[in-house]
Amino acid sequence: MLLGPPGSGKGTQAELVAHRLLIPHVSTGDMLRLAVARGSELGAKVKALMEAGHLVSDDLMREVVAERLAQPDCLKGVILDGYPRTVVQAHDLDAILGDHAQFLVAVYLDVAEEVIRRRIVGRRSCMQCGRICNIYDSRSCCGPRCDVCGSELVQRPDDHDEVVTARMVEYAEKTEPLLGYYRKLGLLRICNGDLDFPVVHEEIIGLIESS
Ligand code: ADP
Repeated sequence: MLLGPPGSGKGTQAELVAHRLLIPHVSTGDMLRLAVARGSELGAKVKALMEAGHLVSDDLMREVVAERLAQPDCLKGVILDGYPRTVVQAHDLDAILGDHAQFLVAVYLDVAEEVIRRRIVGRRSCMQCGRICNIYDSRSCCGPRCDVCGSELVQRPDDHDEVVTARMVEYAEKTEPLLGYYRKLGLLRICNGDLDFPVVHEEIIGLIESS
């Protein structure tokens, strides 16, 4: 699993790492956004909370994650991105995984706060294929359309400056305690997420392979 504050690069790194290790990228944020876009029952339940930068309830998240991890493509392992986000969810994950919990590795992307805000507010996402770009990063695609599938690039409703503050508060109060939880279990690995994306990528792979 990848842990880290909003904007730490978790989503982008999770996708790259999953691709390299040939295992699924299980992103709860992407799953919930898809549910909202499709207008499903789940989407209706979570839309307002997400747009305000608040967390969805632990019970609902347990159902969503348990259902996803029961799919056959998850048998060889997954990269979890966005789950767990509270200590209750960490216990739920242990219960969902059962014996497989012994194989968990928690990689924490440690990123300075000023770097985070710029990354989030500048982020543009493709609603069609999930491609992520940044208007402050000249190396990333930054036109009005996605360079992979040609769909429109948009700013996520929860990436607006005021909502970012709410997400940071949620993170500090509810998610940061997870670091202590996984440290105590000896499962925490720390990666310097301030560095360039390819460097961070190699560091994450190294940490997973040596665990
Ligand atoms: P971030 O860029 O903040 O890491 P994500 O894409 O992972 O964002 O998640 C977006 C939103 O989806 C969160 O702000 C929250 O509302 C909801 N969400 C995602 N995962 C969880 C979770 N494990 N528990 C509760 N809410 C979640």
